[in-house]
Amino acid sequence: MAEAARGVHVIATPAGTNAVLIHDDAQTWWLLDPGCALDTWVVHEAVSAVLEDDIPSGIILSHGHSHVAGSAGALAKEWGCSVFCSAAEAPMVHGTIPYPPLDTTCHGIASFRARNRQEPPAEAIPDAKCFASEAPMAGWELLALPGHTPGSVGFFRTSDGVLLAGDALSTIDWDQMIPMWRQTKQLRMPPNIDTLDWVAVRRSLRLIASRKPERVIPAHGHPLLECEKGVADEAWHLAEVGIVARKGRYVADPAVLRSDNTWQLYDPIPDPVGKFGKWVVLVGIAIYMVLIIRLW
Ligand SMILES: [Zn+2]
Repeated sequence: MAEAARGVHVIATPAGTNAVLIHDDAQTWWLLDPGCALDTWVVHEAVSAVLEDDIPSGIILSHGHSHVAGSAGALAKEWGCSVFCSAAEAPMVHGTIPYPPLDTTCHGIASFRARNRQEPPAEAIPDAKCFASEAPMAGWELLALPGHTPGSVGFFRTSDGVLLAGDALSTIDWDQMIPMWRQTKQLRMPPNIDTLDWVAVRRSLRLIASRKPERVIPAHGHPLLECEKGVADEAWHLAEVGIVARKGRYVADPAVLRSDNTWQLYDPIPDPVGKFGKWVVLVGIAIYMVLIIRLW
């Protein structure tokens, strides 16, 4: 486990996300985005190695997708602590409604895979508590960063410019197969297949840019501890230029959560690959494996 900044420990989970253990300015420990269900005991061991006989005061979710929240219920039960999320994310975290379908019409290998294999939802946490208007961690600012999901949040520490981005940003290029496989470190868009509102993503990227972060710890990809052009410039570029080039179901027609906890969803855009999806996926995986072997 690496300490990426003062009191910020990053746990790279086996499933490929970053759980973040935070020691805040009030000397309290918090765990952000503990990972999927399969990560539960790895994360438990990693946290115990740092805290020894202590336990986190709470588990915080940047959003409710199973890849970041799937282990939260089991860990909260083990430690006897609470799970926190934003009010806008609560209907999905509580299990009241599921997330909308994945977007299988965007670019990238994840989109191909999603045609045949959908990620199971996270275990519902009916007693998860909602943030007030402030971050639970002392010394951190709560940033509402909707777009990937309606209630996505991030956390920013002004004193040293550290941004805990959740899935509002990533350092993986989800659209390009080789950079995605190599995990080439670069500031990139939120994960493409499960981002629901790209109009809101643009606003969230502008908000991030306005804070002028210096270091970014996303839910997916290596932490970005230095950035050649500057994180703010990169985030601004993504907001103004990157989103214009996007394709996919939720680009023109965002999935919007209504106040009655139902989704406003438009018909999916035509997906010519979908008819032959199974074979396309199989051939794609075969090519992917050949490339891996040749490039190894
Ligand atoms: Zn997500």
